[in-house]
Amino acid sequence: MNIHEYQAAEIFSRFGIPVNKGKVCATPEEARAAADELGVPVVIKAQVHVGGRGKAGGIRLAANPGEAAQAARQILGMSIRGATVHKVLVAPAVDIAHEYYLGVVLDRARRRITVMASAAGGIDIEEVARETPEKIVREHADPLLGLHDYQARRLGFALGLEPALVRPFAAIARQLFAAYTAVDASLAEINPLALTSGGTWLALDSKVVLDDNALFRHPEHEALRDPEAEDPLEREARAAGISFVRLDGTIGCVVNGAGLSMATMDAVKLYGGSPANFLDVGGGASSQQVATALRLVLSDPNVRVVLINIFGGITRCDVVAEGLLEALKTVEVRVPVVIRLVGTRQEEGRRMLAEAGLTVVDTMEEAAQRAVAAAQGREARA
Ligand code: GDP
Ligand code: MN
Repeated sequence: MNIHEYQAAEIFSRFGIPVNKGKVCATPEEARAAADELGVPVVIKAQVHVGGRGKAGGIRLAANPGEAAQAARQILGMSIRGATVHKVLVAPAVDIAHEYYLGVVLDRARRRITVMASAAGGIDIEEVARETPEKIVREHADPLLGLHDYQARRLGFALGLEPALVRPFAAIARQLFAAYTAVDASLAEINPLALTSGGTWLALDSKVVLDDNALFRHPEHEALRDPEAEDPLEREARAAGISFVRLDGTIGCVVNGAGLSMATMDAVKLYGGSPANFLDVGGGASSQQVATALRLVLSDPNVRVVLINIFGGITRCDVVAEGLLEALKTVEVRVPVVIRLVGTRQEEGRRMLAEAGLTVVDTMEEAAQRAVAAAQGREARA
């Protein structure tokens, strides 16, 4: 789950990280009042769940309250890579001597938490990693032992910091690490971590991605959710208890169970197609859920064929068939539908679908091959 910069900054602040505190505003007038109160100059920053706001014109400096209102007027309502700006953060403008990068991510392959730092901060870290990977330094921390002080200091020295700056830098690295683990984040990042002209450290851009699988441990995080910023399809899916992730292919998948969903996507890829989504209707999917799932998948204009792959264990095939038939009554199906339905009560389920003129195949391989063929606009080879 993504959260906004100002929310991430609040989290970092709780862990002792010096952040640039500002005010969240939804109108130009609020921005004017905020600038008045904070003292000018100020920086006006778009609050959206995407990075690269600076390049897109979503970050502006203002020398007086009137300019702050003007900048807010320009930024509010703006679209930054598909995300509409509904709020801006107004914060005191800072005199920057140098911009650093500091980030914490999970390294699954190493089973460690990686802390990354770079003296080439301010710009996209992916770009630094691509163009000048030698400019990124790393420490790998054991999740149980945490980031040791010596590791944090080693990062500071590797950045070429003056000795006097290493200790306060190391403190921020350890605070960021503590924040990352405490909130169950999958990413915690400060970019830029600014060295101000006054010689102090200040986090100027805070980013946190919360691990969805740990949200149950943090009911307080629900308040951080911004429904306006989420993919409407993913929101509808969550409300229905369906796991759904939009992808960029053409084969819409409706599957029960996360493992079978992954296997279905693999099969689609194996036969040369590309899935439009990951969708798991859940173990005991109701007919209502199946109907919702079908509607979700069909509302994606990229979908050229729907592949339904159900293994009836807890889920009964006749219940799934009922859901499908119900959904087909309410949803306009503009693409071919390939169905593989096996397991508990498969005869009943298949009979119901056959009576409605739908064909069902026996194996996942056959289903995937047919779906790929249909997506490519040709008949499947027998
Ligand atoms: P991003 O583009 O979405 O990563 O947004 P950032 O918050 O990182 O801002 C982008 C850039 O704007 C930073 O790298 C800075 O160069 C600049 N910037 C942000 N805040 C300030 C500020 O208070 N003062 C100055 N001078 N520049 C700032
Ligand atoms: Mn940034």
